[in-house]
Amino acid sequence: MKRLAILGSTGSIGTQALDVVLAHPELFEVEILTAHSNADLLIAQAKQYKPNAVVVTDETKYTYVKDALSGMPVKVFTGMKSLCEVVQWDTVDMVLGAILGFAGLASILAAIDAGKRIALANKETLVVAGELVMQRAAEKRVQIIPVDSEHSAIFQCLVGEPIDSIEKIILTASGGPFLGRKPNYLVNVKASHALQHPNWVMGAKISIDSATLMNKGLEIIEAKWLFGLRNDQIDVVVHPQSAIHSMVQFVDGSLKAQMGIPDMKVPIQYALAYPERIGNDYKRFNFKDFPKLSFEPPDNKTFPSLDLARKAMNTAGNVPCVLNATNEVVVHAFLHNKVGFLEMSEMIEKTIECVSFIEHPTFEDYEQTDKEARAYANEFVKKSQLSIY
Ligand code: NAD
Ligand code: MG
Repeated sequence: MKRLAILGSTGSIGTQALDVVLAHPELFEVEILTAHSNADLLIAQAKQYKPNAVVVTDETKYTYVKDALSGMPVKVFTGMKSLCEVVQWDTVDMVLGAILGFAGLASILAAIDAGKRIALANKETLVVAGELVMQRAAEKRVQIIPVDSEHSAIFQCLVGEPIDSIEKIILTASGGPFLGRKPNYLVNVKASHALQHPNWVMGAKISIDSATLMNKGLEIIEAKWLFGLRNDQIDVVVHPQSAIHSMVQFVDGSLKAQMGIPDMKVPIQYALAYPERIGNDYKRFNFKDFPKLSFEPPDNKTFPSLDLARKAMNTAGNVPCVLNATNEVVVHAFLHNKVGFLEMSEMIEKTIECVSFIEHPTFEDYEQTDKEARAYANEFVKKSQLSIY
């Protein structure tokens, strides 16, 4: 029986992880659930899964959650500090990091420091501070098992393969809802349209990241740190059917691909159950549904975010942190119709020029960089035509 701390339990990954738990009560037990502000869902989850503790990080929701759960033997906490404490409890065997964005970093570091096994969905953690996270994990002999579907695919392809047998990895990208579109079309697209991902059902932020291809940019950096690769060992190919979740090319030219239907519950289950592979009754892949698999290079001119991320990875230091912080700001603004689709990558590029470079950032430097980048990005957002009118 694994006792789980599910960080970000009210999100897209968090709720699907709870479905996995529900399907395997003999394997998993919920020890901790956390959410930022969706108090009602957190309360409902606490009633159903009976964790030992919940954390609602938004302090204004604390009393509401505490009162609602007062008749139950569940401890209620609030704030980031509590979040970082509960992940270290002896009663936690594994931590699922499914918080969105930079906000997930501190709790993952705390869990690593306590030697907890990590299932990591929160890719921004590795984008921002991959070096620090992987170094701490190595020191504490903590294994980080990816949840992101591409990285789970690569992780699965690498089972039984020495790491130096990798020539390169190839991340597949669906291309998102605007595949094949050009700037004259993209200039007017709205969030409601961008949120309609053709293959995957995901949270709002990552759906927009998929539409801009920033998601793939973040995933390149995520892969670099997870698998300890050189920057030139990471390729991207657009594969609109999302049947192949990613591939590894080995030194002998062999390619291994991991395939399946696009359902995040599969990589979530794999990460939670690892090293076991357990059964389920989810929909199966049917070749009749995929008569053709196609591949094409990404359109980096129309979707500059991928190149921006690659550049940030090459420059390294605190630049990926700036990229991530600005992206979080502009995506939030785009979701609220405050900036245009094409403005997002422009603002990221401009912000990277503004923030001072730190070659070997500490955790505190990352916090400072994140704040500084957000401040610049918010200024650019305010100047957008969409924000003004
Ligand atoms: P989501 O927005 O649906 O859920 C985010 C969760 O994080 C919620 O429970 C929310 O309460 C919590 N949260 C948000 N801000 C917080 C804060 N400041 N402090 C504490 N908790 C906070 O997001 P999601 O789509 O589930 O994505 C979660 C992570 O998983 C992201 O890093 C994303 O890139 C990654 N991921 C998601 C998918 C997917 O299919 N949704 C696939 C691969 C990777
Ligand atoms: Mg992914």
